[in-house]
Amino acid sequence: MTPEIIQKSSIYHRDRHQTVEMLVVHAMAEWVKDEDGVNYYCVDYLNHKKYSVHAYCLPDGSIIESISQEEVAYHAAEFNNQSIGMEFIVPGAHNLETFLARIADRQNPPFTQAQYKSGGWWFKQQAEKFGLNFQHIKTHRQLAPDRKQDPGDAFDWRIFKEAFEN
Ligand SMILES: [Zn+2]
Repeated sequence: MTPEIIQKSSIYHRDRHQTVEMLVVHAMAEWVKDEDGVNYYCVDYLNHKKYSVHAYCLPDGSIIESISQEEVAYHAAEFNNQSIGMEFIVPGAHNLETFLARIADRQNPPFTQAQYKSGGWWFKQQAEKFGLNFQHIKTHRQLAPDRKQDPGDAFDWRIFKEAFEN
């Protein structure tokens, strides 16, 4: 079953000149409490920071597509040129501290079955499109271990892989 896909384009992208070699799993809060005291919806937060990502996977399993996979998005620093990324959205409003606690909470994980299902489907589409497989999927933490923890220990890699394969 194809998930519901919503288009919300961002202006933060550039032409891609390199081959896509990896697919990146991210997580971020649905609402980000920024240091300036403003609560930004996830999509608006990346815009505000002049970052971008190819797609967002919402808790209900719907997907927001923001940047074409043919274009480079700004989600993984020095890996942007060779990668495609998706944000798994953690429900609620979070500052950095509560967000990091939430994505580490294996007892009460923030991710939904609907998210694994449609996120797995989406990653499979990208893998097929670019001739990649599951081992080309990286976490943001693997790419930036000193700065980033997402998608966190509460992200169930086994369920995600199952969804990818089915
Ligand atoms: Zn990330």
